[in-house]
Amino acid sequence: MPVGTVGTVKGVPQDVLEDLGVGILLGNTYHLYLRPGVETVRQMGGLHGFMAWERCILTDSGGFQVFSLNELRKVKEEGVTFRSHIDGTSHFFSPERAMEIQIGLGADIIMAFDECTEYPAEEGRTRESMELTLRWAERSKVHFEQHKHEVPWDKASGSGLQASGAARAGTPVRPSPSQGATQALFGIVQGGMSKELRRESALRTVEIGFPGYAIGGLSVGEPRVMTYEIVAETLQHLPADKPRYLMGVGRPEEIVQYARMGVDMMDCVLPTRAARHGLLYTSQGEVSIKQARYARDEAALDPECRCRVCRRYSRAYLRHLYASNELLAQVLNTIHNLSFYLETMRVFRGSIGVASQAL
Ligand SMILES: [Zn+2]
Repeated sequence: MPVGTVGTVKGVPQDVLEDLGVGILLGNTYHLYLRPGVETVRQMGGLHGFMAWERCILTDSGGFQVFSLNELRKVKEEGVTFRSHIDGTSHFFSPERAMEIQIGLGADIIMAFDECTEYPAEEGRTRESMELTLRWAERSKVHFEQHKHEVPWDKASGSGLQASGAARAGTPVRPSPSQGATQALFGIVQGGMSKELRRESALRTVEIGFPGYAIGGLSVGEPRVMTYEIVAETLQHLPADKPRYLMGVGRPEEIVQYARMGVDMMDCVLPTRAARHGLLYTSQGEVSIKQARYARDEAALDPECRCRVCRRYSRAYLRHLYASNELLAQVLNTIHNLSFYLETMRVFRGSIGVASQAL
Protein backbone atom coordinates (compact mmCIF):
# COMPACT_ATOMS: atom_id res chain seq x y z
CA MET A 1 0.00 0.00 0.00
CA PRO A 2 1.51 3.32 -1.04
CA VAL A 3 1.23 5.95 1.67
CA GLY A 4 -0.94 8.99 0.95
CA THR A 5 -0.37 10.81 4.21
CA VAL A 6 -2.72 13.80 3.87
CA GLY A 7 -4.95 12.42 1.13
CA THR A 8 -2.28 12.49 -1.57
CA VAL A 9 0.64 10.30 -2.54
CA LYS A 10 3.07 13.22 -2.70
CA GLY A 11 3.64 14.33 -6.28
CA VAL A 12 1.49 11.74 -8.04
CA PRO A 13 -2.05 12.44 -9.31
CA GLN A 14 -4.76 9.84 -8.73
CA ASP A 15 -5.13 8.89 -12.40
CA VAL A 16 -1.43 7.98 -12.55
CA LEU A 17 -1.82 5.86 -9.41
CA GLU A 18 -4.70 4.07 -11.16
CA ASP A 19 -2.54 3.44 -14.22
CA LEU A 20 0.19 2.03 -11.97
CA GLY A 21 -2.35 -0.47 -10.64
CA VAL A 22 -2.59 0.83 -7.08
CA GLY A 23 -5.55 -1.00 -5.55
CA ILE A 24 -5.36 0.42 -2.05
CA LEU A 25 -3.83 3.51 -0.45
CA LEU A 26 -3.04 4.37 3.15
CA GLY A 27 -4.11 7.65 4.71
CA ASN A 28 -2.86 8.94 8.08
CA THR A 29 -5.61 9.69 10.58
CA TYR A 30 -3.42 11.99 12.68
CA HIS A 31 -2.51 14.23 9.73
CA LEU A 32 -6.01 14.28 8.20
CA TYR A 33 -7.56 15.04 11.59
CA LEU A 34 -5.31 18.10 11.97
CA ARG A 35 -5.69 19.18 8.34
CA PRO A 36 -8.24 19.51 6.72
CA GLY A 37 -10.14 18.09 9.73
CA VAL A 38 -12.61 15.25 9.90
CA GLU A 39 -15.73 17.41 9.41
CA THR A 40 -14.51 18.68 6.06
CA VAL A 41 -13.73 15.17 4.84
CA ARG A 42 -17.04 13.80 6.16
CA GLN A 43 -18.99 16.48 4.31
CA MET A 44 -17.22 15.61 1.09
CA GLY A 45 -18.41 12.00 1.35
CA GLY A 46 -15.34 10.73 3.18
CA LEU A 47 -11.84 10.37 1.78
CA HIS A 48 -13.08 8.56 -1.33
CA GLY A 49 -15.20 11.52 -2.36
CA PHE A 50 -12.77 14.15 -1.13
CA MET A 51 -9.70 12.86 -2.93
CA ALA A 52 -11.64 11.46 -5.92
CA TRP A 53 -10.35 7.94 -5.34
CA GLU A 54 -12.78 5.11 -5.95
CA ARG A 55 -10.42 2.31 -5.04
CA CYS A 56 -9.71 1.08 -1.51
CA ILE A 57 -8.29 3.15 1.34
CA LEU A 58 -6.98 2.15 4.77
CA THR A 59 -6.48 4.65 7.58
CA ASP A 60 -4.17 4.02 10.52
CA SER A 61 -5.44 4.80 14.02
CA GLY A 62 -3.35 7.91 14.60
CA GLY A 63 -1.55 6.14 17.42
CA PHE A 64 1.76 5.77 15.65
CA GLN A 65 2.05 9.48 14.74
CA VAL A 66 0.97 10.57 18.20
CA PHE A 67 3.80 8.45 19.59
CA SER A 68 6.43 9.28 16.99
CA LEU A 69 5.81 13.01 16.45
CA ASN A 70 4.96 14.08 19.98
CA GLU A 71 7.54 14.07 22.70
CA LEU A 72 5.19 15.94 25.02
CA ARG A 73 2.33 13.43 24.80
CA LYS A 74 0.58 12.28 27.99
CA VAL A 75 -0.74 8.71 28.00
CA LYS A 76 -3.50 7.78 30.44
CA GLU A 77 -5.99 4.93 30.61
CA GLU A 78 -8.58 7.13 28.95
CA GLY A 79 -6.39 8.13 25.99
CA VAL A 80 -3.52 10.35 24.86
CA THR A 81 -3.16 14.11 25.05
CA PHE A 82 -0.76 15.53 22.50
CA ARG A 83 0.23 18.75 20.78
CA SER A 84 -0.22 19.41 17.08
CA HIS A 85 3.11 19.48 15.25
CA ILE A 86 1.59 22.23 13.07
CA ASP A 87 0.50 24.89 15.57
CA GLY A 88 1.17 23.47 19.03
CA THR A 89 -2.53 23.25 19.99
CA SER A 90 -3.54 20.53 22.44
CA HIS A 91 -5.60 17.51 21.28
CA PHE A 92 -6.91 14.27 22.74
CA PHE A 93 -7.20 10.83 21.11
CA SER A 94 -8.94 7.91 22.78
CA PRO A 95 -10.08 4.63 21.25
CA GLU A 96 -13.58 6.12 20.91
CA ARG A 97 -12.30 9.34 19.35
CA ALA A 98 -10.03 7.42 16.95
CA MET A 99 -13.06 5.38 15.81
CA GLU A 100 -15.22 8.48 15.46
CA ILE A 101 -12.56 10.17 13.32
CA GLN A 102 -11.90 7.10 11.17
CA ILE A 103 -15.62 6.50 10.60
CA GLY A 104 -15.86 10.14 9.49
CA LEU A 105 -12.89 9.75 7.15
CA GLY A 106 -14.67 6.71 5.69
CA ALA A 107 -11.76 4.48 4.62
CA ASP A 108 -12.62 0.85 3.78
CA ILE A 109 -10.29 -0.56 6.44
CA ILE A 110 -9.70 1.22 9.75
CA MET A 111 -7.43 0.37 12.67
CA ALA A 112 -8.01 -0.03 16.40
CA PHE A 113 -6.32 2.60 18.58
CA ASP A 114 -3.08 1.21 20.01
CA GLU A 115 0.01 2.27 21.86
CA CYS A 116 3.16 1.72 19.82
CA THR A 117 5.66 0.51 22.44
CA GLU A 118 8.99 2.32 22.18
CA TYR A 119 12.26 0.49 21.53
CA PRO A 120 14.06 -0.49 23.62
CA ALA A 121 11.64 -1.12 26.50
CA GLU A 122 11.85 -3.21 29.67
CA GLU A 123 9.70 -6.33 29.85
CA GLY A 124 7.46 -4.84 32.54
CA ARG A 125 6.86 -1.67 30.59
CA THR A 126 6.23 -3.70 27.40
CA ARG A 127 3.60 -5.80 29.20
CA GLU A 128 1.84 -2.72 30.60
CA SER A 129 1.77 -1.18 27.15
CA MET A 130 0.47 -4.40 25.59
CA GLU A 131 -2.29 -4.64 28.20
CA LEU A 132 -3.29 -1.04 27.50
CA THR A 133 -3.45 -1.78 23.76
CA LEU A 134 -5.69 -4.80 24.47
CA ARG A 135 -8.08 -2.72 26.59
CA TRP A 136 -8.09 -0.05 23.88
CA ALA A 137 -8.79 -2.71 21.23
CA GLU A 138 -11.92 -3.77 23.10
CA ARG A 139 -13.06 -0.17 23.51
CA SER A 140 -12.36 0.47 19.82
CA LYS A 141 -14.49 -2.49 18.82
CA VAL A 142 -17.38 -1.57 21.13
CA HIS A 143 -17.49 2.00 19.83
CA PHE A 144 -17.14 0.87 16.22
CA GLU A 145 -20.02 -1.60 16.51
CA GLN A 146 -22.25 1.13 17.95
CA HIS A 147 -21.39 3.74 15.31
CA LYS A 148 -20.30 1.89 12.16
CA HIS A 149 -23.41 2.89 10.24
CA GLU A 150 -22.43 6.55 10.50
CA VAL A 151 -19.85 6.12 7.70
CA PRO A 152 -20.53 8.89 5.12
CA TRP A 153 -20.49 6.63 2.06
CA ASP A 154 -23.99 7.35 0.83
CA LYS A 155 -23.40 11.07 1.06
CA ALA A 156 -22.90 12.62 -2.38
CA SER A 157 -19.96 15.01 -2.50
CA GLY A 158 -22.30 17.66 -3.89
CA SER A 159 -19.66 18.80 -6.34
CA GLY A 160 -20.96 16.74 -9.25
CA LEU A 161 -17.42 15.53 -9.82
CA GLN A 162 -16.84 11.88 -10.46
CA ALA A 163 -13.75 9.79 -10.13
CA SER A 164 -13.41 7.99 -13.42
CA GLY A 165 -10.70 5.45 -12.90
CA ALA A 166 -12.38 2.84 -10.75
CA ALA A 167 -12.79 0.26 -13.47
CA ARG A 168 -9.47 0.56 -15.24
CA ALA A 169 -7.68 -2.51 -16.54
CA GLY A 170 -6.96 -5.51 -14.41
CA THR A 171 -6.58 -4.07 -10.92
CA PRO A 172 -8.61 -4.54 -7.78
CA VAL A 173 -11.63 -2.31 -7.77
CA ARG A 174 -13.47 -1.36 -4.62
CA PRO A 175 -16.95 -2.84 -4.70
CA SER A 176 -19.39 0.03 -4.60
CA PRO A 177 -20.71 0.03 -1.07
CA SER A 178 -24.22 -1.31 -0.89
CA GLN A 179 -26.86 0.05 1.42
CA GLY A 180 -25.81 -0.55 4.99
CA ALA A 181 -22.23 -1.61 4.13
CA THR A 182 -19.69 -0.77 6.79
CA GLN A 183 -15.95 -0.49 7.20
CA ALA A 184 -13.68 -3.32 8.39
CA LEU A 185 -11.98 -2.69 11.74
CA PHE A 186 -8.63 -4.47 12.17
CA GLY A 187 -6.96 -5.24 15.50
CA ILE A 188 -3.27 -4.55 16.17
CA VAL A 189 -0.83 -6.89 17.90
CA GLN A 190 1.82 -5.26 20.12
CA GLY A 191 4.21 -6.81 22.65
CA GLY A 192 7.52 -5.16 21.82
CA MET A 193 10.44 -7.48 21.11
CA SER A 194 9.26 -10.24 23.47
CA LYS A 195 8.14 -13.41 21.69
CA GLU A 196 6.10 -14.45 24.72
CA LEU A 197 4.23 -11.13 24.86
CA ARG A 198 3.72 -11.13 21.09
CA ARG A 199 2.14 -14.57 21.34
CA GLU A 200 -0.11 -13.45 24.19
CA SER A 201 -1.05 -10.23 22.43
CA ALA A 202 -1.91 -12.12 19.23
CA LEU A 203 -4.05 -14.73 21.00
CA ARG A 204 -5.94 -12.16 23.08
CA THR A 205 -6.48 -9.83 20.11
CA VAL A 206 -7.89 -12.77 18.12
CA GLU A 207 -10.13 -13.54 21.08
CA ILE A 208 -11.61 -10.04 20.89
CA GLY A 209 -12.26 -10.84 17.22
CA PHE A 210 -11.55 -8.74 14.13
CA PRO A 211 -11.88 -9.35 10.37
CA GLY A 212 -8.12 -8.72 9.96
CA TYR A 213 -5.01 -8.36 12.15
CA ALA A 214 -2.02 -6.06 12.02
CA ILE A 215 1.43 -6.49 13.53
CA GLY A 216 2.40 -3.10 14.94
CA GLY A 217 5.34 -1.77 16.91
CA LEU A 218 8.06 -2.99 14.53
CA SER A 219 10.54 -1.03 12.39
CA VAL A 220 11.00 1.24 15.42
CA GLY A 221 14.79 1.02 15.49
CA GLU A 222 15.34 -2.66 16.31
CA PRO A 223 17.84 -4.76 14.30
CA ARG A 224 16.27 -6.30 11.22
CA VAL A 225 16.93 -9.86 12.29
CA MET A 226 14.82 -9.17 15.39
CA THR A 227 11.98 -7.85 13.20
CA TYR A 228 11.98 -11.13 11.25
CA GLU A 229 11.93 -13.21 14.43
CA ILE A 230 9.02 -11.28 15.92
CA VAL A 231 7.04 -11.36 12.67
CA ALA A 232 7.58 -15.13 12.35
CA GLU A 233 6.50 -15.70 15.96
CA THR A 234 3.43 -13.46 15.70
CA LEU A 235 2.20 -14.86 12.37
CA GLN A 236 1.89 -18.35 13.86
CA HIS A 237 -0.82 -17.11 16.20
CA LEU A 238 -2.88 -15.13 13.69
CA PRO A 239 -5.52 -16.92 11.60
CA ALA A 240 -4.27 -17.64 8.06
CA ASP A 241 -7.74 -17.12 6.59
CA LYS A 242 -7.87 -13.46 7.71
CA PRO A 243 -5.70 -10.67 6.27
CA ARG A 244 -2.41 -10.26 8.14
CA TYR A 245 -0.97 -6.78 7.88
CA LEU A 246 2.60 -5.87 8.80
CA MET A 247 2.75 -2.14 9.47
CA GLY A 248 5.53 0.14 8.26
CA VAL A 249 7.84 -2.12 6.21
CA GLY A 250 10.09 -2.27 4.21
CA ARG A 251 12.76 -2.40 1.53
CA PRO A 252 11.94 -4.32 -1.70
CA GLU A 253 13.78 -7.51 -0.71
CA GLU A 254 12.21 -7.35 2.75
CA ILE A 255 8.61 -7.10 1.55
CA VAL A 256 9.15 -10.20 -0.59
CA GLN A 257 10.56 -12.02 2.43
CA TYR A 258 7.60 -11.00 4.62
CA ALA A 259 5.11 -12.03 1.94
CA ARG A 260 6.87 -15.41 1.74
CA MET A 261 6.40 -15.75 5.51
CA GLY A 262 2.65 -15.22 5.14
CA VAL A 263 2.10 -11.46 5.43
CA ASP A 264 -0.74 -10.26 3.17
CA MET A 265 -0.55 -6.48 3.50
CA MET A 266 2.23 -3.95 4.05
CA ASP A 267 2.60 -0.18 3.88
CA CYS A 268 5.72 1.91 3.81
CA VAL A 269 6.76 5.48 3.14
CA LEU A 270 10.10 4.23 1.85
CA PRO A 271 9.44 4.08 -1.93
CA THR A 272 7.91 7.56 -1.97
CA ARG A 273 10.17 9.22 0.61
CA ALA A 274 13.37 7.74 -0.83
CA ALA A 275 12.27 8.83 -4.31
CA ARG A 276 12.03 12.43 -3.17
CA HIS A 277 15.62 12.13 -1.97
CA GLY A 278 16.81 10.70 -5.26
CA LEU A 279 17.14 7.11 -4.04
CA LEU A 280 15.68 4.74 -6.60
CA TYR A 281 15.06 0.99 -6.37
CA THR A 282 15.82 -0.98 -9.51
CA SER A 283 16.20 -4.60 -10.63
CA GLN A 284 19.96 -3.97 -10.40
CA GLY A 285 19.91 -2.54 -6.89
CA GLU A 286 19.69 0.98 -5.49
CA VAL A 287 20.52 3.95 -7.69
CA SER A 288 21.38 7.31 -6.14
CA ILE A 289 20.42 9.45 -9.11
CA LYS A 290 22.17 12.56 -7.77
CA GLN A 291 25.60 11.08 -8.52
CA ALA A 292 27.72 12.77 -11.18
CA ARG A 293 28.40 9.42 -12.85
CA TYR A 294 24.90 9.54 -14.36
CA ALA A 295 25.34 13.00 -15.91
CA ARG A 296 25.67 11.62 -19.44
CA ASP A 297 24.18 8.17 -18.93
CA GLU A 298 21.82 7.53 -21.83
CA ALA A 299 20.40 4.32 -20.37
CA ALA A 300 16.98 3.96 -18.84
CA LEU A 301 16.93 4.15 -15.04
CA ASP A 302 16.07 0.44 -14.90
CA PRO A 303 16.27 -1.35 -18.28
CA GLU A 304 13.99 -4.10 -16.95
CA CYS A 305 11.29 -1.76 -15.69
CA ARG A 306 8.36 -1.03 -17.98
CA CYS A 307 7.08 2.01 -16.13
CA ARG A 308 6.38 5.23 -17.98
CA VAL A 309 9.53 6.85 -16.56
CA CYS A 310 11.92 4.08 -17.59
CA ARG A 311 10.37 3.81 -21.05
CA ARG A 312 10.81 7.49 -21.74
CA TYR A 313 13.64 9.19 -19.87
CA SER A 314 17.39 8.68 -19.53
CA ARG A 315 19.33 8.55 -16.28
CA ALA A 316 21.10 11.70 -17.46
CA TYR A 317 17.81 13.60 -17.65
CA LEU A 318 16.59 12.32 -14.27
CA ARG A 319 19.92 13.29 -12.74
CA HIS A 320 19.68 16.76 -14.26
CA LEU A 321 16.13 17.27 -12.92
CA TYR A 322 17.24 16.22 -9.45
CA ALA A 323 20.37 18.39 -9.50
CA SER A 324 18.28 21.38 -10.64
CA ASN A 325 15.75 20.77 -7.86
CA GLU A 326 12.92 20.55 -10.39
CA LEU A 327 9.46 19.46 -9.22
CA LEU A 328 9.37 16.90 -12.00
CA ALA A 329 12.28 15.05 -10.43
CA GLN A 330 10.13 14.17 -7.40
CA VAL A 331 7.17 13.21 -9.57
CA LEU A 332 9.12 10.92 -11.91
CA ASN A 333 11.23 9.37 -9.17
CA THR A 334 8.14 8.58 -7.11
CA ILE A 335 6.32 7.06 -10.08
CA HIS A 336 9.25 4.74 -10.78
CA ASN A 337 9.72 3.63 -7.17
CA LEU A 338 6.01 2.93 -6.72
CA SER A 339 5.97 1.05 -10.00
CA PHE A 340 8.96 -1.03 -8.90
CA TYR A 341 7.34 -1.91 -5.56
CA LEU A 342 3.99 -2.75 -7.13
CA GLU A 343 5.63 -4.89 -9.81
CA THR A 344 7.68 -6.70 -7.14
CA MET A 345 4.47 -7.67 -5.36
CA ARG A 346 2.65 -8.51 -8.62
CA VAL A 347 5.40 -10.98 -9.53
CA PHE A 348 5.24 -12.46 -6.05
CA ARG A 349 1.44 -12.79 -6.16
CA GLY A 350 1.80 -14.49 -9.53
CA SER A 351 4.19 -17.04 -8.06
CA ILE A 352 1.71 -17.79 -5.23
CA GLY A 353 -0.91 -18.47 -7.92
CA VAL A 354 1.40 -20.86 -9.77
CA ALA A 355 2.44 -22.63 -6.58
CA SER A 356 -1.14 -23.15 -5.42
CA GLN A 357 -2.17 -24.51 -8.85
CA ALA A 358 0.69 -27.00 -8.63
CA LEU A 359 -0.62 -28.37 -5.32
ZN1 LIG B 1 10.68 2.42 -13.90
